[in-house]
Amino acid sequence: MKRRDALKTMAGLAATSVLGGVARAAQQAQDEDIPLPAAYRKIYPRFEKLPIQVSSLAPGLSLITGPGGNITGLAGHDGLLMVDAFLPSRSADLIRVVRNLGAGPITVITTHWHFDHSGGNAALAEAGAKIVAHENTRTRLSSEQYVVDLQMRFPPPPAAALPVVTLRDSATFYLNGEEIHVVHAPSAHTDGDLFIHYRKANVLQTGDVFFTWAYPNIDSSSGGWIGGMIAASDALLGIADARTRIIPGHGALATRDDLQAFRSMLAEARDRIEPLVHAGKTLEEAIAARPLANLNPRWGKGSFNRSHFTQFVYSGLAKHHNKESS
Ligand SMILES: [Zn+2]
Repeated sequence: MKRRDALKTMAGLAATSVLGGVARAAQQAQDEDIPLPAAYRKIYPRFEKLPIQVSSLAPGLSLITGPGGNITGLAGHDGLLMVDAFLPSRSADLIRVVRNLGAGPITVITTHWHFDHSGGNAALAEAGAKIVAHENTRTRLSSEQYVVDLQMRFPPPPAAALPVVTLRDSATFYLNGEEIHVVHAPSAHTDGDLFIHYRKANVLQTGDVFFTWAYPNIDSSSGGWIGGMIAASDALLGIADARTRIIPGHGALATRDDLQAFRSMLAEARDRIEPLVHAGKTLEEAIAARPLANLNPRWGKGSFNRSHFTQFVYSGLAKHHNKESS
């Protein structure tokens, strides 16, 4: 069996247990209703050990899942284009997998600075890759970041991890016979989010501005807020058609209908939590009011439960409210 086929077989065997593992970890966080930082620290070590799986989306275009946000790799005569790069601790494994996809120079587009998306950048750059990201992502990767909701400090990665090309609004890559349209979604999950449309394959990779089946993280410490998340959903809905395959930041392949449902959930969460912020409720009072009660059966089964998501939405709205009133 060729190495590539062997990898595919292993990926197939691992698929069930991986999804089970994530669901179990998430379920535990849910059951215990523990605070956000503790829940996150508990899930992370299991997340880090997930096996890497490769599946084909179109000729030359692969989906790579495992220890971090979803990755795509586009192989061909111009080399390899990748979007995102998992966690730092798994970069050697990732390089082995992507080198199996194709030869030639590597370009890595980073959807945002979070370490589960940009973690492999330094190792990839040392192996010769060129990193591309939004200019705000480069700024955030250049200094220590403190994420208030998770109460976690992230030291800057090695200088090699910094993007060597940045963009502000959009860019298009013409590589390997594909048109790869890269678009900035302002102040959504962070202030540097990019989403990517492989136009010919009609595959849309969203980064963390979209989660298929769960409440997303909205990082207000990094400039994210729910208004920008809703605008990002609208921008994605403007590009996707009924046949578009949508790759979320985390979770399974999705459709335009899934994206529409996610957008409705975000709007409802905003409509419930915004009045609490404007009424001057504290975060604890907002959580105690259980504003997401009817959304929870469908959306509360992922890594973040109703309290965590209320906190994400509240934090970003509070920042915007303060800005408006000052
Ligand atoms: Zn993220």
